[in-house]
Amino acid sequence: MTEKPSEKLRIDVLTRSGGRCECVMKTCGHSGRCTAMLRGQWELHRINTNGEYTMSNVIGLCQMCHRNTPSYGVGAR
Ligand SMILES: [Zn+2]
Ligand SMILES: [Zn+2]
Repeated sequence: MTEKPSEKLRIDVLTRSGGRCECVMKTCGHSGRCTAMLRGQWELHRINTNGEYTMSNVIGLCQMCHRNTPSYGVGAR
């Protein structure tokens, strides 16, 4: 599934996250949520990479955190 996220979804995620990274991965080194500002370049990351781009299946990640996701560089973006 190579569906692209819509611009509206990005805006909705940005609103939901308060403009901050929603990453909660322990592998990143931040404790709890990342909360880095999402401005300029940031990534819509699908929680279930086989799923679709929907509000329940995506989180907003700063570029640093996106690099730490298991699916980074895997599959089409
Ligand atoms: Zn982050
Ligand atoms: Zn992170």
